[in-house]
Amino acid sequence: MRAYLRAKCAQLEIELNRLQDYIGQQERDATHPVLVSDLKDHLCQMQRLCRRLSAIAENPDAALLKRAHMYLRDYAYLQTSLRVWYLPACFYETDTDRQFGRIIRHLNSRLGVTPMEDLIVSHGRFFTTFPGILRAPIFYVPFAQHQSLGDLPALYHEVGHIVYQHNPLFATELQAVVITHYSELARRTSPIPSVQQEERLKALSWCVQYWNWRKAIRIQELFCDIFAANVVGPAFIFSWIDLVMRQAGEPYQYSECDEHPPDGFRATTCFQALPAACRDAPLVEWMQQVFTQYVSGKLQRRDPVPYAMLCSTELMEKLVNKVSEHLERIGVPVYAGPIPDQSQAQDFADVLDLEGLLNAAVVKLLADPNGYNSWESEMVRRLYAALPTA
Ligand SMILES: [Zn+2]
Repeated sequence: MRAYLRAKCAQLEIELNRLQDYIGQQERDATHPVLVSDLKDHLCQMQRLCRRLSAIAENPDAALLKRAHMYLRDYAYLQTSLRVWYLPACFYETDTDRQFGRIIRHLNSRLGVTPMEDLIVSHGRFFTTFPGILRAPIFYVPFAQHQSLGDLPALYHEVGHIVYQHNPLFATELQAVVITHYSELARRTSPIPSVQQEERLKALSWCVQYWNWRKAIRIQELFCDIFAANVVGPAFIFSWIDLVMRQAGEPYQYSECDEHPPDGFRATTCFQALPAACRDAPLVEWMQQVFTQYVSGKLQRRDPVPYAMLCSTELMEKLVNKVSEHLERIGVPVYAGPIPDQSQAQDFADVLDLEGLLNAAVVKLLADPNGYNSWESEMVRRLYAALPTA
């Protein structure tokens, strides 16, 4: 082990010198000063870990070797953050990425509830975020997204991850909602034989484990859906059910290794989370019909626990209420509508009202699919012209 550690430290020192050079280049480039200052901080932590490993390699105390594995794991996390995520995003950042970044900055300033001071965009993957540095996350978006309003509501779900991670109280309280929900169910008496009762209690306990898996990531995903449905309104739901239908998955199947809850549950949650101002709008009713038609007849998996127990309406309502209460507390602006009609969508004037524009885009696309291309191009052109340049 000591020979391995000596060899490893020699290798890490070479890597650290290279990383220092790359970060130095980014510092001279001065495009992302906030981000670079955090990357330098990452590098200092890695240098410190390397020195500790080097000291363990020369120390005869065998008990310290266990600690070496911990240091190696911590080093690997920071190494991935720099080499896999942040430095490639910085070095391969294009003008297109920077242009799209202006939309996210604008969105962020409209929300006013995230810790984002800087951000970096990388085109080429489906919407996802890497919030390794909360005040300067990376946003991955599909190729050519900078030209399109389609799928753009998904960005709000990604911003939801930043908001969630910035407010640790959300995780604590939403996990408490889940635990309390299943504890109450376990206490409810049921006139079934004791063998079945035992099975039922086991299933309830499995549900708690399902929701708490990997630091309750599935609860975080639901939070982001609720957040986006609140802020963007119907346009987020349209974008979401469009995604579900084109992936043609099984809406009522849950997977023990998928960090997302079943699509059917996420869709119902989104509808429930819509702001009151647009819940009864004809567009929402139409989307509900489309989704109901899509899911009708899809089999609901029954093992190891019933879907209705894992994804119950009662649990969903409790989560939506808790999230909405917190969003109101921190001042997240809710989509107030009204949903534009066809002529308002056609002549949509305030392009900086991004959520309004995204709803107008859905209305325009559904009412006039053939005229949508030129309308969208014009709106995107006007949006970039109106966005602040800094
Ligand atoms: Zn997510």
